[in-house]
Amino acid sequence: MAEHESLEYGKADFVLLDNVSMEEFMGNLKLRFEKGRIYSYIGEVVVSVNPYRAMNIYGRDTIEQYKGRELYERPPHLFAIADAAYKAMKRRNKDTCIVISGESGAGKTEASKYIMQYIAAITNPNQRAEVERVKNMLLKSNCVLEAFGNAKTNRNDNSSRFGKYMDINFDFKGDPIGGHISNYLLEKVNGTLCVSARHQLLRGAPDSLLRSLHIQKDPTAYNYIKVGVNSHTHTVADAMKVIGFTGDEVQTVYKILATILHLGNLTFGVDGDVTLIENPKLVSILRELLSTKEENVEKAMLYRTVATGRDVIEKQHTIQEASYGRDALAKAMYERLFCWIVGRINDIIEVRNYDARVHGKNTVIGVLDIYGFEIFQNNSFEQFCINYCNEKLQQLFIQLVLKQEQEEYQREGIPWKHIDYFNNQIIVDLVEQQHKGIFSVLDEACMNVGKVTDEVFLQGLNGKLAKHAHYTSRKLSPTDKSLEFDRDFRIRHYAGDVVYSVVGFIDKNKDTLFQDFKRLLYNSANPVLKAMWPEGKLSITEVTKRPLTAATLFKNSMISLVENLASKEPYYVRCIKPNDVKSPLLFEQERCRHQVEYLGLLENVRVRRAGFAYRQTYPRFLQRYKMISEFTWPNHDLPSDKDAVKRLMQGCGFDHDVAYGKTKVFIRTPRTLFSLEEQRAEMV
Ligand code: ADP
Ligand code: MG
Repeated sequence: MAEHESLEYGKADFVLLDNVSMEEFMGNLKLRFEKGRIYSYIGEVVVSVNPYRAMNIYGRDTIEQYKGRELYERPPHLFAIADAAYKAMKRRNKDTCIVISGESGAGKTEASKYIMQYIAAITNPNQRAEVERVKNMLLKSNCVLEAFGNAKTNRNDNSSRFGKYMDINFDFKGDPIGGHISNYLLEKVNGTLCVSARHQLLRGAPDSLLRSLHIQKDPTAYNYIKVGVNSHTHTVADAMKVIGFTGDEVQTVYKILATILHLGNLTFGVDGDVTLIENPKLVSILRELLSTKEENVEKAMLYRTVATGRDVIEKQHTIQEASYGRDALAKAMYERLFCWIVGRINDIIEVRNYDARVHGKNTVIGVLDIYGFEIFQNNSFEQFCINYCNEKLQQLFIQLVLKQEQEEYQREGIPWKHIDYFNNQIIVDLVEQQHKGIFSVLDEACMNVGKVTDEVFLQGLNGKLAKHAHYTSRKLSPTDKSLEFDRDFRIRHYAGDVVYSVVGFIDKNKDTLFQDFKRLLYNSANPVLKAMWPEGKLSITEVTKRPLTAATLFKNSMISLVENLASKEPYYVRCIKPNDVKSPLLFEQERCRHQVEYLGLLENVRVRRAGFAYRQTYPRFLQRYKMISEFTWPNHDLPSDKDAVKRLMQGCGFDHDVAYGKTKVFIRTPRTLFSLEEQRAEMV
């Protein structure tokens, strides 16, 4: 239990609720939010509610209060968990990670920034110039990525980014010496592209540059821009230059962003049998931006090369095909640009201090900023991937938390008691298992020789998974009211049921970019652009391997993410968005309840309470409670602090609820702790 906080602010740790029920959980969360207490704990997990107002709790003085303290010594705060992760790394030489999850707008990125600021503030006491440089790079590169990856959006938005993972490397002194970033992107294939990041960049650009890119300042001039205008003052380009991008690289970034905007305005028509581009002026702009020939642009837009037996022919697109290709190109260019930027940043921030390597002690704190469980009115491939990711993270959470508990009990010599919880491995398998899993069925459907449709995929699912306890569909459960449409299927996730529509799964899973576009970009005279598209080197007859599907790429990246996290000691931050209108006052009960449910927070409390709700070292325990027993106040004369705590507990009649470890006392139920707190309050 966090000290120095009165109960009028509610319970600082949800583990101490009288009953683990949704009602009590929500009551406590709301009370704390209304009292301005945006952070709470579930054991060592931080629960955060977005305050939507500036809080005076991140300054130097607050940092000093948390520095080097134990988690329970101060009110719940991000700094406490950042400090715990840092201490574990420095004192015990452990790699640690901080997993921050929550929906879009819940405050994940802000949280990751505060954590990084805290770490920056408490490291490098000797002000070594090289370390200061690295810190500055890490913070700046974070800004660049945020600007690109994050559209300014409202809910139901076009926001495409769903996760970012950043490793910070430390030397043997505990000072940052470098880092590495991985990004997890999910972008809608069709429809509006997420563009306000691009827009942000263009807005920050000087007029002369915009003219050279043939870009108008009016955002309504672009079909791809459908989201609000962001008014950032300094440009991302400046930050890019500071961290070491060359002038040519920054130029190319601008050109690509401009290309994407222009592509959105490209329209097609027909004249007799011929498909044509309706706005040829754009073709000449695209030619210029992509440093290629006009006829190359036109051909790539209107034709695709296909190999039939030994012949290679050029097949003309229909209007639909051409439009589809255009959107796929815009999306692919954006994704590729983003990955390229991440790669360049990684080159720049990679650990260079070879001394540190020689010394052999190079430890890591990883910070993962990732979407939580997501459920919308209409759930598709993106939600399916995000929710699968959360199943993986939940599996990891279960394994690690239970493992940590078990290890602590062993260390302390307390008998291990089996903890009952729902093991979601069965759902992880349902998605990722070879041959039978949903991703495999999807890939198979995509390789079908005959018809490749979403319905074929659904038939595959129904065929393979009819008996699975966590899968059903409209066909399998025709009377089920939650399955409204023929193309719906439902997964019973650990956090609850989600209905998905198969519509779009096939398209989103396939790599839809025609080889002709890859060739177009590879053949650019701009070396930076060319380097982004190495596979464009191949002609159609040389393209033999199918590109990996989105599902396979996603699965692989999740598996390696989880392997990485599993090798570290984890800390968790769960972010909640209190309302949709960015109000600092409004706590929308239903909306928050939904998030508590999908973040699996009640399950967290349950797992945490299954063992011992509270534990504390003997000296610290005595320090807090010695005044409630005549045997321990003001000092005890027993052989050890452990004996003194035993005596105190026996005196209060709590002995049955307590286990005595080698260095710590363990209390099973929160009620016991409350009684202690009450008795203490009476004495002081
Ligand atoms: P996410 O990364 O989860 O999508 P952000 O971290 O970008 O969400 O937060 C969205 C907005 O909410 C921020 O731009 C900021 O205005 C507000 N916000 C989030 N966390 C805090 C905080 N701790 N204090 C004040 N405002 C916050
Ligand atoms: Mg964010």
